[in-house]
Amino acid sequence: MKRIERARNWTRQHLRLFRCPVCSAPCADVSGNSLICENGHATDFNKHGYLYFLRKPANDEYDTALFEARRKLIQAGMFLPIMKEIARQLPSSPQTILDVGTGEGSPLCQLLSQRADSGDTAIGFDISRAGIALAAQLPLDALFCVANLRELPFANASFTVVTELFSPSDYREFDRVLAPHGLLIKVIPGPQHLRELRALLFPEDDDRRFYDNSSVRNLFEAHYPKAKEMPLCYEFSVPVDLRCDLMRMSPLQWGASARVPNTEELKKLDSVTIDALILIGTASSEAPSSDSAS
Ligand SMILES: [Zn+2]
Repeated sequence: MKRIERARNWTRQHLRLFRCPVCSAPCADVSGNSLICENGHATDFNKHGYLYFLRKPANDEYDTALFEARRKLIQAGMFLPIMKEIARQLPSSPQTILDVGTGEGSPLCQLLSQRADSGDTAIGFDISRAGIALAAQLPLDALFCVANLRELPFANASFTVVTELFSPSDYREFDRVLAPHGLLIKVIPGPQHLRELRALLFPEDDDRRFYDNSSVRNLFEAHYPKAKEMPLCYEFSVPVDLRCDLMRMSPLQWGASARVPNTEELKKLDSVTIDALILIGTASSEAPSSDSAS
């Protein structure tokens, strides 16, 4: 079956998860190559099998090379212990999962394969078309879409789990789409994250040698006062042929003033520290009121 056909069938079976990006009405049907809302607005499926929800093109700074570098490192297991831990935190019953900032989709793929036979339903979205075009090629029973974090094209209280790996948040939107008692699982870097790479980029007395996660963490805890925190730190052995991809996977993260290490220096990075903090918040026990959708 063609990818677009698979995406259309998947969406038709899960219409209740979506809402119109134009008028916020429920989605009523899949017709031709479009998802149609009750008021007749159409959102198109791309021929590669993903839904495109943006109403104006995003200022998309990430290109295919970046996502290909990410994919190689992630598929080599760079974040696998994190995805295994997230899988352990989920109830064993079937979950409806939204993966925020899904990129090229490999972390979501690893999470779902840890939960094989759980009967989960999953959507991954990203603002980057280059990332989602790669994600849609994964052999995965999930739907990918290009969408904006600030205006999620999903219905109120429609997901039991929202996950995000090193990605920005919009807590108001997450609260809206999470079902009562749903889980928000957010992974942020710890101070030692990629310290071997940082040591090549910044001088010894530079604050950026260590990642300060306090403001992100405080904001999360302000929204979810009963949040659970799980630190996870390990060494990732970087395959020789992927060491230069470490720089390519996040070129904008380091800022213009960072040094650019040469190939010889990068090739010596035989292992890097992955220092992550998994934050788990629980949505309130009440469904969001309809006016929070406005
Ligand atoms: Zn509409």
